[in-house]
Amino acid sequence: MTSRVPYAGQSPRDLGGGVRSVPVPIPGSPLGYTLVYAIDSPGGPLLVDAGWNHPDAWQALSAGLSELGTDVSAVRGVVVTHFHPDHAGLAGRVREESGAWIAMHEEDARLVKLMRGFGERAHRDFQSEMLRRAGAPSLTLEDGARPEPPAQPDLELRDGDLIDLPGRTLRAIHTPGHTPGHVCLFLEDAARLFTGDHVLPDITPHIGIYPYDRDDIDPLDDFLTSLDKVAALGRTEALPAHERIFDDTAARAAEIRAHHEDKLVRLAALLTEPLTIWEAAALMRWNRSWEDLSPMLRGMAAGEAAAHLRALEARGLIRRLPEVDPVRFVAVDS
Ligand SMILES: [Zn+2]
Repeated sequence: MTSRVPYAGQSPRDLGGGVRSVPVPIPGSPLGYTLVYAIDSPGGPLLVDAGWNHPDAWQALSAGLSELGTDVSAVRGVVVTHFHPDHAGLAGRVREESGAWIAMHEEDARLVKLMRGFGERAHRDFQSEMLRRAGAPSLTLEDGARPEPPAQPDLELRDGDLIDLPGRTLRAIHTPGHTPGHVCLFLEDAARLFTGDHVLPDITPHIGIYPYDRDDIDPLDDFLTSLDKVAALGRTEALPAHERIFDDTAARAAEIRAHHEDKLVRLAALLTEPLTIWEAAALMRWNRSWEDLSPMLRGMAAGEAAAHLRALEARGLIRRLPEVDPVRFVAVDS
């Protein structure tokens, strides 16, 4: 694992070409911080993501923008790469302070709407039924402190849309996988790509299916296709939402694709016997042993296992046994 620069070692930076970055802490997360980008325009800066909704994060964002010679009250719009709380969390607060619009891909906007209508009770029932069908022992995934759902966006984006940013060409590239409505933003006049969580320099984003046993979607295949899509933009500098800026998005996208292809091959090899999603997850290789994963991380690992199982199934390499509960998968030639 490459050593990660902690939040304490980060500071707001002018990246040149009218682009600045502000590290915004994610309290209590090993990820450390979200890199929020501000792109200058005559009508005020546009933010790419906003950070986690927490007083320390708000302080870092507003102080960081001031340090870079602008102000949160001047922000004209916030484009959220995806609905996750470390990206969209503060967008509502920025809108309150500045009157900025919030834009998000329509698929994630739909999920935000669902989340806002989903009570604690419904959420717990959804989880326990999902875990049961995956063959998990009875457990809860450390519920309690669920972050508040993000603000509903004012604008819904589609693939290829141009963002309203006078004097610049900033295009939304729909890159589903990490979430159904994840977007990267391509600053075409500078060959810079704001990659959100889609392409990160050292880690790979979580790709999961919820509930685990869905067979009508294939997020891993979506993600791999989205990696090819950003690679096809040619050589671009990547400005990711975590870790650090790096050259050559396409080269990193190819590495991430290889990582998942490798994971698929290993997983297929385990399925000589029928396995539940939970059993498959426990046998897969994670960044620490299964025993050391917290219930929440096991739940995410199972989501990741489910996405890989589904991709193998869609490729015709494994099948799910009919009429069994919990769901079990096996190699087609077993
Ligand atoms: Zn995310």
